[in-house]
Amino acid sequence: EVLSEHTTRRKVSHEIELEEEDLKEICDEFKRIIARDGKEFPQDPYRQLEMAVEAVFLSWDNPRAKTYRRLNDIPEDLGTAVNVQMMVFGNRGERSGSGVGFTRNPATGEKHLYGEYLPQAQGEEVVAGTRTPLPVSQMKQQFPEIHAQLLDISERLEKLRRDMQDFEFTLEDGHLYMLQTRDGKRTGPAAVQIALDMLEEGLITPLEAILRVEADQLDQLLHPVFKDDDAVEIARGLPASPGAAVGKVVFSADDAEHWAGRGEKVILARPETTPDDIHGMEAAVAILTSRGGMTSHAAVVARGMGKCSVVGCESLRIDPKNKTIEWDGNRLNEGDVLSLDGTTGRVMLGAVEMVDTGGNRELLDRFMTLVGQVEAMGVRANADRPDQASIARDFGAIGIGLCRTEHMFFEEDRLPLMQQMILSDSLEKREEALAKLKKFQRKDFEGILEAMDGLPVTIRLLDPPLHEFLPPHENQVEKIQRLRQKGADQAEIRRQEEILKRIESLHEANPMLGHRGCRLGITYPEITRMQTQAIIEAACQLKKAGKNPVPEIMVPLVSMKGELANQAEVVRKTADEILAKQGVDLDYLVGTMIELPRACLVADELAEISEFFSFGTNDLTQTTFGFSRDDAVKFLGAYEKEKILAKDPFQTLDQSGVGQLVAMAVERGRQARGDIKVGICGEHGGDPASIEFCHGQKLDYVSCSPFRVPGARLASAHCSIREQSQSAGGDVPFRDR
Ligand code: PEP
Ligand code: MG
Repeated sequence: EVLSEHTTRRKVSHEIELEEEDLKEICDEFKRIIARDGKEFPQDPYRQLEMAVEAVFLSWDNPRAKTYRRLNDIPEDLGTAVNVQMMVFGNRGERSGSGVGFTRNPATGEKHLYGEYLPQAQGEEVVAGTRTPLPVSQMKQQFPEIHAQLLDISERLEKLRRDMQDFEFTLEDGHLYMLQTRDGKRTGPAAVQIALDMLEEGLITPLEAILRVEADQLDQLLHPVFKDDDAVEIARGLPASPGAAVGKVVFSADDAEHWAGRGEKVILARPETTPDDIHGMEAAVAILTSRGGMTSHAAVVARGMGKCSVVGCESLRIDPKNKTIEWDGNRLNEGDVLSLDGTTGRVMLGAVEMVDTGGNRELLDRFMTLVGQVEAMGVRANADRPDQASIARDFGAIGIGLCRTEHMFFEEDRLPLMQQMILSDSLEKREEALAKLKKFQRKDFEGILEAMDGLPVTIRLLDPPLHEFLPPHENQVEKIQRLRQKGADQAEIRRQEEILKRIESLHEANPMLGHRGCRLGITYPEITRMQTQAIIEAACQLKKAGKNPVPEIMVPLVSMKGELANQAEVVRKTADEILAKQGVDLDYLVGTMIELPRACLVADELAEISEFFSFGTNDLTQTTFGFSRDDAVKFLGAYEKEKILAKDPFQTLDQSGVGQLVAMAVERGRQARGDIKVGICGEHGGDPASIEFCHGQKLDYVSCSPFRVPGARLASAHCSIREQSQSAGGDVPFRDR
């Protein structure tokens, strides 16, 4: 504020244009501001140095450093260091300046010196984004010999450090000083491009190339892009971090957090961002700034987060005080919708339609071919439809780890049949409805088994409580009232009243722990029979057509051997009858989900019947903690804030609790059946830290949603490589990032 008051008064745009008198006044005002807190600005240079050192150490505990550590998994007890060194000055006249450089483009990975500099400025001004810097390439004209020197140093640094470098430099009176260098942060596509290029250049080994990309970074190669249309472009800024995003504009980090907390997608718009904004940047889907360059805080942080960002959009006046964005006589208010294209820098009005195909498929495929050369735990996919199965197979899934059959019953043409089955008051009527449903199921299974031809497909029998297929109680009451008011047909009213009665009779105080999973199959064995018939008949059909279906039938929510024995018998009897009748030779497996603590305790008993185990860690987490998986969001935030939990246990497996149960079940299961196949199909199957745990337990596979398959394969390869390097006696043949 003080600086801008002075620059406005002098009618200049930057402080370097101010006079000596102004600078003296500014210094005095700064001192007065400091004195307001009752502290005199120290005049002893040693005291100043001491305070600066203390400030660095104290900065370890400020909120933004804490947020940064949390986001980047940096341990709290790592600590920090202080370097004290002589300064050089970038603001010493016309042949001075400061800059930040990258040895390769950190957004795309292209191999060229990339960076920005500000003439007559200190480094602080470059990174703060208060003035928009010039591209380093422009130094070629102004300071050709310095530019050549930078190119040479850049190459030497890469050879020495064997990775892309992010360095800072200062030019003092025509003399170049390198201030620091470190491995540069980069986008996902850049990480993959650089790894593949450096491998080709012979700078790194194939295993190093694989370790250079984090599993989460692959997501960015699969980002949605905007459909090419006639969207209204209001401005164009710098394409700081790729991807496409649509959201409502907010103007402060707190608002971003707040709005996102109630489920809104927001774009955080700021003149420039500072580390204090980090929580808002995390909450937003994208970040827009009017000032700053590709190395500004907003650009660097967004790139690290893999979040779409457009910076330095100078034609926009972003006013956080009045919560407006103005340009060419137009105005946008808080809550208005914008679309940002972080790949081109375009800012567009309204919600532009997106398509879900990343433009980097070719790059991803090249990298995944390399990853595929590492012997590692396999990755299956959770998929309920043939198209999802095909996507997963394309991404290298080695089978389906979980096909949730209930999703198939929600489709428009099936729901009435499902309801008819639930409302049937006799076995006969129920079987009639089930016979109609079977036709649909058989087609579904045929599609999935065909898409995964030759690979195993784990199909789970019906799991959710039946009331989920009926309308909510209040809707049904309203429906009946409406029918009565309309004077509708009495028979129809009675039919709807029957449905209401059934809804009431199916009501449960705690449906998650109620009549679901194998408990349904035990009370209605005809459901298990119908599903088994549909699976085996579909497989027979495919076999006859020369295909190779590999079905694995899975019983959900088992906690007792008797439950599994009951259901396995129904499945095997039904399946074998069909196979004998059709004269088809088919290998199929019968197994169980392990998703209740008791199942882990008696895993040896279950393994006597079960040919495979699949850990349903969603329910296992829910029942081990006693946290409802649907309601825990309400308090898990507080648990993380109070450090009661380090991570949301529904995202990252709780290794010390739930993990112990998993380990026990694996051990007991394998004791009883040496060749039992063991996998995991809860959400944790796509989470790198949980994958590491599964690798440690020597699971046969992890299973996750199709788009997480590449990341999970990479995480699994990382585990393998690290383990190999450790068993090579700690003599790591590559650098572990
Ligand atoms: C699980 O519980 O982990 C699981 C995969 O099943 P669902 O999420 O369908 O309950
Ligand atoms: Mg479950």
